[in-house]
Amino acid sequence: MELAAGLDRVLARIDAACAAAGRDPGDVRLLPVTKYFPASDIAALYRLGRRDFGENRPQEAGAKAAELSDLGVRWHLVGQLQRNKARQVARWAYAVHSVDSERLATALATATAAALDSGERDTPLEVLIQVSLDADPTRGGVEPGAVPALADHIAESTELRLAGIMAIPPRTADPDAEFARLAEVCTRLRTGHPGATELSAGMSNDLERAIAHGSTCVRVGTALLGARPITSA
Ligand SMILES: *Cc1c(COP(=O)(O)O)cnc(C)c1O
Repeated sequence: MELAAGLDRVLARIDAACAAAGRDPGDVRLLPVTKYFPASDIAALYRLGRRDFGENRPQEAGAKAAELSDLGVRWHLVGQLQRNKARQVARWAYAVHSVDSERLATALATATAAALDSGERDTPLEVLIQVSLDADPTRGGVEPGAVPALADHIAESTELRLAGIMAIPPRTADPDAEFARLAEVCTRLRTGHPGATELSAGMSNDLERAIAHGSTCVRVGTALLGARPITSA
C-alpha cells in the first residue's frame, strides 16, 4: 500500500515535470533504485508494473537478482564497479550506468562475451558513460572532454551497446547549470553515436530539474521507498 502510494506520487511528479517542460511523459523512464531495501519490496513494485530496477552495489544486486530470477526484472547497476566484478555483473545486469574507463569497458565486454557464450545472458550489455561534473574522483565518472574517446571505444565492442550517459550532479553546485552542461555532453555524443539517446540524471530531490534539462531516466530511491535503512554492510 505504501509502495503504491509512493509510486503514484513519483509518477505524478514525473508527469507534472514533463508537462512543465513540454515533454512527452513516455520519453522519461522511472528507474526505482532499491539499494538496501529487501527483494520483497522489489517484488511488490514488480507487481505494480515496474520492470527496471537500479542497484548500486554489485554483490547486493547479484543476490537479489538470484532471489528474483523467476521475474523478468531488468537490473541496472548504477554504482561504481571494479573490473574484478565484471564477470559476476555480466550474469545478471541488463545495463551498467557507471562506466568510466576504457579498462572497465573492456572488462565488461570480455565478461559479457563469456556470459553470452555460456548462455547466462542473451543480449548485449547496455552501457552508459558516467560523466563527472565536479572532477571528484571518489564519485566516479569521466570528465566531459573524455566522453567521445570512451564512447568510440565502447562502440567497437559488439557485446556492449552504448546507450547514453549518466551523472550524479555535485551536491554543492547550481543543479540547473550542471544539468545544462550534461545536456550539452549528451547532444554532442548523439551526433557521433545516434543510438546513445539515454540521459540518466535526476534523483529524488532534483528530478524535476533533470527532466527540464532532457533527462530520459530518473533514478529514484528515497521518494519512492522512504529513507534507506542504515546499514554497516
Ligand atoms: C541511491 C542512488 C540514487 C537514488 O537516490 P535518492 O536520492 O534516494 O533518490 C540514484 N542514483 C544513484 C547512483 C544512487 O546510488
